[in-house]
Amino acid sequence: MKILLVEDEAKTATFLKKGLSENGFVLDVAEDGETGLHLAREGSFDLVILDVMLPERDGWSVLREIRTRDKNTPIIFLTARDSVPDRVRGLEEGADDYLVKPFAFSELLARIRTVLRRNERRSEEFLRFSGIEMDLLRRSVSRDGSRLDLTAKEFLLLELFMQHPEEVLSRTFIAERVWDMNFDSDTNTVDVAVRRLRKKVDEPFSRKLIHTIRGMGYILENRS
Ligand code: CA
Repeated sequence: MKILLVEDEAKTATFLKKGLSENGFVLDVAEDGETGLHLAREGSFDLVILDVMLPERDGWSVLREIRTRDKNTPIIFLTARDSVPDRVRGLEEGADDYLVKPFAFSELLARIRTVLRRNERRSEEFLRFSGIEMDLLRRSVSRDGSRLDLTAKEFLLLELFMQHPEEVLSRTFIAERVWDMNFDSDTNTVDVAVRRLRKKVDEPFSRKLIHTIRGMGYILENRS
């Protein structure tokens, strides 16, 4: 799951980036409202976390602009001022939830999960393919009923394959989705990660599901 954080305070951004990636999210950070709006329009994010006080363009304006074209992507706004009008305004203008700074990370995480769960576009809680079952809310995976122990990155990688079964995924496509947007095509990282994932998902089983398409990338496919 990919989150856009629009936040000008480097300390908060770094802290959230660390915490969220530890919990299996990929985070892109924009440090001002203009960049945030641009990224929100260009990239496909599952959720946007938006600070209100921002340089270039404030959070209200970013929120309004996003909502003129995109009614669905959940937005949580962060407000430093604990005032009722702010909260009402944010929710009226199309935010899904808000948090008052300073907040506990666990609180943010809980809000993110609630908002994502509520969002109907993300109603798929389970992904299934040829005996693999992923529970996206519990973050658990099994194959033929045996539980697989995946790291956060491996989980993201498998989730990507499961969302695109029987499609060839290029290394660049994988790199962009599972790592940073501005991944400078160190595709070796992708190969290493896929190898590790195969060790857990395929090696113990006779039927292999993740295949290399030479010169192109990888595919999740049942060839039996
Ligand atoms: Ca700020």
